[in-house]
Amino acid sequence: MIIAKARAVDGPDQQFRSAEIKRRDLDTSDVLIEIKYAGICHSDIHTAHGDWGPVNYPLVPGHEIAGIVTDVGTGVSKYKVGDRVGVGCMVDSCGECDNCRKGEEQYCLKGNIQTYAGVDKYGEPTQGGYSTHIVVTEDFVVRIPDNITLDAAAPLLCAGITTYSPLHHWGAGPGKKVAVVGMGGLGHMAVKIAHAMGAEVTVLSQSLSKKEDGLQFGAAHYYATSEPETFEKLAGSFDLMINTVSASIDINAYLSLLTLDGTIVNVGAPAEPLSVQVFSLIGHRRSFAGSMIGGIRETQEMLDFCAEHNIAPNIEVISADQIDEAYKRVLASDVKYRFVIDTSTI
Ligand SMILES: [Zn+2]
Ligand SMILES: [Zn+2]
Repeated sequence: MIIAKARAVDGPDQQFRSAEIKRRDLDTSDVLIEIKYAGICHSDIHTAHGDWGPVNYPLVPGHEIAGIVTDVGTGVSKYKVGDRVGVGCMVDSCGECDNCRKGEEQYCLKGNIQTYAGVDKYGEPTQGGYSTHIVVTEDFVVRIPDNITLDAAAPLLCAGITTYSPLHHWGAGPGKKVAVVGMGGLGHMAVKIAHAMGAEVTVLSQSLSKKEDGLQFGAAHYYATSEPETFEKLAGSFDLMINTVSASIDINAYLSLLTLDGTIVNVGAPAEPLSVQVFSLIGHRRSFAGSMIGGIRETQEMLDFCAEHNIAPNIEVISADQIDEAYKRVLASDVKYRFVIDTSTI
């Protein structure tokens, strides 16, 4: 049994506290990772607050994990001690269903095992990256390229793959007009990645307060959705829209911005249903879609793509004592653009 230090929360209204958690002894295919950095994702906050249903507390969130391999099981072939590695939103899946065999483990028909707030194949609750160590089977570990620093790598494991996967799947590239809705942790990654893929990128944000950043990240255009003329001006413009907003929005107004055969992909997850007017879809053969993270192979592909194009998230590194404050600031959209915990402070 390996004892790791962690920061845990005991209930929806509780503050984070120091904790010790158990990590399993290495099975043959397992890798022990000393976590160096863990990103703070909006999902961590929703889960810690119980917004998405009952949670078994104490909970250690964190599914944007970057660190160094410090031990490997006897059957591990892909990694060795000293390797720079990452772990994202899932740590296992059945490995046998159609979706797993296609490398789409996130859509495992038996349900993938979430990095935290899940139950692993040994029947133990999973605990995430706000911790000094984690044990993960090698098939769910990815390699961090040398030219991406570990602190910047962490948010790629959720925010990066969540935006890369739909951009890739729906063919963002030269000649394609892509709109990114929302300029937070996910949105700023979507802008950088879509631009690097060669698409013409437009940001649709509530206000113009982050316009300079958006243009610097690679957007060609930036509009405020609080201005009604934005929707008139951009009607029928986009081949692809990535909606990163997890609050309820007037989805029909956004659908009207799609061109013939255009698709809007939701990657944010509002708790309330969105009300889609079917006429918004059939008028221009539009699609209303969703996408959840990406498979392990595609996550590696995303990391390699980011390394090749020198893409990294903009981050604010914080100490473990600042997690509660960081949560408040994320909820107030007061972060540029991702908090990353330096786990040496845990
Ligand atoms: Zn996440
Ligand atoms: Zn499966």
